[in-house]
Amino acid sequence: LQESKSLLTSTTSSGKIKELENDSISYFIKKKLGVWCKQPRGQWELGTIQSTSGEEASVLLSNGNVTKVAKSELLPANPYILEGTNDLVKLSYLNEPSIVHNLQLRYSKEMIYTKAGPILIALNPFKDLQIYGNDYVPACRQKFIDSPHVYAMADAAYNEMITDEVNQSIIISGESGSGKTEMGKFVIQYLAAVGGGSCGIENKILQTSCILEAFGNAKTSNNDNSSRFGKLIEMHFSAMGKICGANIQTFLFEKVICNNFLFEHNVPKRLNLRDVSDYKYLNQSDCMTIGGIDDAKKFQELTKALDAVRVCEDDQELIFKMVAAILWLGNISFLVTDSENCIEVVDDEAVTSAARLMGCSSQELMAALSTHGSQSENGTIAKRLKLQQAIDTRDAIAKFIYASLFEWLVEQLNKSLQVGKKCTGKSISILDIYGFETLQKNSFEQFCINYANERLQQHFYRHLFKLEQEDYESDGIDWTKIDFEDNQECLNLFEKKPLGLLSLLDEESNLPKASDLTFANKLKQHLDANPCFKRERGRAFCVRHYTGEVFYDTNGFLEKNRDMLSSASIQLLSSCNCELLQFFSKAFCQTQKQSNSIHTVALDSQKQSIGTKFKDQLFKLMRQLESTKPHFIRCIRPNTKQRPGIYDVDLVLQQLRCCGVPEVARISRVGYPTRITHEEFSRRYGFLLSEVNIYQDPLSISIAVLQEFNIPFEMYHFGHTKLFLRAGQIGALEDKRKLV
Ligand code: ATP
Ligand code: MG
Repeated sequence: LQESKSLLTSTTSSGKIKELENDSISYFIKKKLGVWCKQPRGQWELGTIQSTSGEEASVLLSNGNVTKVAKSELLPANPYILEGTNDLVKLSYLNEPSIVHNLQLRYSKEMIYTKAGPILIALNPFKDLQIYGNDYVPACRQKFIDSPHVYAMADAAYNEMITDEVNQSIIISGESGSGKTEMGKFVIQYLAAVGGGSCGIENKILQTSCILEAFGNAKTSNNDNSSRFGKLIEMHFSAMGKICGANIQTFLFEKVICNNFLFEHNVPKRLNLRDVSDYKYLNQSDCMTIGGIDDAKKFQELTKALDAVRVCEDDQELIFKMVAAILWLGNISFLVTDSENCIEVVDDEAVTSAARLMGCSSQELMAALSTHGSQSENGTIAKRLKLQQAIDTRDAIAKFIYASLFEWLVEQLNKSLQVGKKCTGKSISILDIYGFETLQKNSFEQFCINYANERLQQHFYRHLFKLEQEDYESDGIDWTKIDFEDNQECLNLFEKKPLGLLSLLDEESNLPKASDLTFANKLKQHLDANPCFKRERGRAFCVRHYTGEVFYDTNGFLEKNRDMLSSASIQLLSSCNCELLQFFSKAFCQTQKQSNSIHTVALDSQKQSIGTKFKDQLFKLMRQLESTKPHFIRCIRPNTKQRPGIYDVDLVLQQLRCCGVPEVARISRVGYPTRITHEEFSRRYGFLLSEVNIYQDPLSISIAVLQEFNIPFEMYHFGHTKLFLRAGQIGALEDKRKLV
């Protein structure tokens, strides 16, 4: 303990470790102990100190070279015996090079999982490892496998749900491409294996990923299979611990038409589709295929999955028809016909095909794309649209259909997974939400994604730092505070009313004459004082996120936040001879606050903006998570090439810093992870005492138990109400209990 405490005090809040002190340097020389030596290009090399002179040290590096460095550039390395330890908490020295080196060593041996106290760190292997499936489930269930594993974490959540009767959550976070979605699937796989019953619902749950990914994932520069939506799957269990239903919530679906799955099999012929490259919504990216992906096989898997969740063949055909309609809509073009830039729709194959698939006439479709209703004294008159307005209208209809289709699909999945009567209300929720994104050009989507990540980060901080400390303090235990960098200031920048990013965006979105530039200027005018805000030139602004600075371009912010659909478009969709489109337009009208008149829809300034809707969803999600016992999995992307075997030290380090891994490991080591009230403890273990009935009060019974079973005094601490135990202590008592 003493050693842990002194190490703790020699570290600063940001995870930086003070250089070796003079007296310890001579100790390191004498014992020939390893040190990390910072190289000119910033990387750390292992070596031993040979001698010192003034502020300089001469170090023999492991590659045989001798180098002279400032003492301040040296950090202690861990003894050889600790190399590759499976819990960072066990390291004697918790400095950054030691942590990164430890993970690197494990990664090179395909050990992708490492614990950092309560957190599970998972490095993306970018290749299939033979550590999952039927052989591994029982091994993890019976704890035969000693090394950390996602199955073991799922097992812990499952057990705690059953024994403590508390809902659990598994929060998977990490950058784009770090492996969150794959990790979520492993968790579900495990829970399906241990909680699977006769009703087969677990198979349906497993199939949902395939469907959601087909419609909601896309290739990005970071990830060939990037989720363009966040997802919370709540799995419900019966009193016997069997799965009895599930519910899926999705967040902020990015309405980008993304996947090419329709162009497989015999679908193109059936839907009269041409080649992938003929569709504007698909050919802009120059990426028609993804290496290693068999599209035809994926399509078959998709239809099989749709069968499994009971989406009937007719509905499946309707879904594909809708996607085909969207693709044709994207090909509709316009001709400018007068000096005012007014347009006419080009009456070609795109119009006829889209209209046919949507169930309307070409004339109706062309009218909706070229005119808008304008209020006058004599009622509504049709005014012709200008080129950009027509393009926006066309794209808005396409995006609306796609987003509605996605929502509808999620609804169908939920119906099929409906929670049965045997459900006890106990659940395990698995959250997979898009990671923090810094692209070359960051737009409204990144703005929302990164805001969500700030919120999640705070949830993480709260649980692992604040609650930890509060628990010790409220129970009267002396606890040297560890400062950590909270991100409340950044959340204020987003959420404050009326002068926060989201409020100002809504305000500007409601002004008819506003533009992305006026929005950017408004931000500069009101938010300059916030330390997390940085002004940039023109339409840009910068936010200092917990991960670093991100530059946003406000281009398209207002449009995307308003997310409007013209009244003509809605009228068109509701009059289409297509069940789905009628359903979507009806649902849209119902979400409007003043839905009684269809003509007011587009002009209704009270329509909830996308930003605010997302914020509300996020708050709801947070409330949901706060009522659960959280388990955190932190996914790390070891390289940007999406290739196995490459470990980029700087990239890993930057991700570890962002999630506070060094701090968590330090807290956990000096902490007491097991906390149990005196009452609970005495009730659970009191009967093990050889002499019963001597003691009456829970505290005395607890003390007697600890003494009788020789738990060393440095392994526990009595608070006012709770007994705090160090890691590993409760296990011994549990074993004794089982023997009785
Ligand atoms: P995004 O935020 O963009 O959705 P993500 O964190 O969900 O990213 P994934 O899609 O889960 O990332 O992973 C990216 C790719 O990395 C996968 O398609 C897969 O090829 C590979 N991968 C991830 N995790 C594993 C794993 N545990 N084993 C093997 N391959 C993996
Ligand atoms: Mg994903």
